[in-house]
Amino acid sequence: MNNLFYTTILAMVVLTSCSNSSNNKSKANHMDSAKQQNPVFSTTDTQKVTIGNEEWRRILPKEVYDIAREKGTERAFTGKYNDHKEIGAYHCAACGNPLFRSNGKFESSCGWPSFFEPITKGSIIYAPDNAYGMKRTEVMCGRCKSHLGHVFEDGPPPTGLRYCINSVILDFEKAKDAAEIFNQQKSD
Ligand SMILES: [Zn+2]
Repeated sequence: MNNLFYTTILAMVVLTSCSNSSNNKSKANHMDSAKQQNPVFSTTDTQKVTIGNEEWRRILPKEVYDIAREKGTERAFTGKYNDHKEIGAYHCAACGNPLFRSNGKFESSCGWPSFFEPITKGSIIYAPDNAYGMKRTEVMCGRCKSHLGHVFEDGPPPTGLRYCINSVILDFEKAKDAAEIFNQQKSD
């Protein structure tokens, strides 16, 4: 009787832990499915991406395409990374290129995620933008030239710059996730 009781409990524990791990997996798969359909997405490949807008339209979710390729702007205070404070890296949502680190992010009241410096000089490219009668500097991804946002000269030290970036074109990778991936690869 006792044995049967413990066996039942053990089976329940095993079943519960199994279903938990498969739940987590399917969640991760769902989140990554947009990236899996994107053949140019890589967080390590530094080769420039030069595909046309027709191809981009096919591989990017519509809201990413509209910002990345049509230079759209998300509404202020609506982006998921506006108040985001986790430690990690922000990548280009179109191609995976590392753009900013969480320690280069600061709280600004402008309504979009704001950074005072990119990860490296080459991770961003700049272009004058005189649309709408304003003199602004557009910032684009250094690998795929997707539109990210604009840079202004009213940021905090040490750079004095404010990179004002659309959340939609950012893909956040938690520092903990990166450590887990590294450990997994080591044990393979
Ligand atoms: Zn990119």
